[in-house]
Amino acid sequence: MACFIGNIIVLISMMSTTSNVLVPKSHQKTIFKYFHDVPSAGNLGPDKMLSRIQQLFYWPAMKSSITSYCKECDQCAARKSLKRNRAPLGQYLVGEPMERVAIDIIDPLPLSKRQNHYVLVFCDCFTKWTETYAIPDKESLTIANTKVPQVMMAY
Ligand SMILES: [Zn+2]
Repeated sequence: MACFIGNIIVLISMMSTTSNVLVPKSHQKTIFKYFHDVPSAGNLGPDKMLSRIQQLFYWPAMKSSITSYCKECDQCAARKSLKRNRAPLGQYLVGEPMERVAIDIIDPLPLSKRQNHYVLVFCDCFTKWTETYAIPDKESLTIANTKVPQVMMAY
């Protein structure tokens, strides 16, 4: 089987189960471009890129040279920098009742007899004590006038 990598013609024996071609350092960059830079390669990470290249080629210290090439890729660096902006998952520890409360609104629900469309949910994160209040809208004034402030004032 013949394979074209840039201007290199690689002949691979169909009789052998191992078809790795020893690639000189002068031609490794061409292979990197073919397996990483072209749009069909999809800027794979070093592990997948190594896996694909190893199916056809071999050279000493393949993993380190592929990893170095991927680290120097501007597109990969730009993509990784976006992931760093995510907040890490963490656990919020609560030490006593009413130290932290969670408030949410369930919406929209069918209209009740008292003209309420929403349910305001109030939960104490320490005790898991939960109360719900039917409210007609999601306006801040409506929420402020529910029993939630009264419950909070009790503590
Ligand atoms: Zn890349």
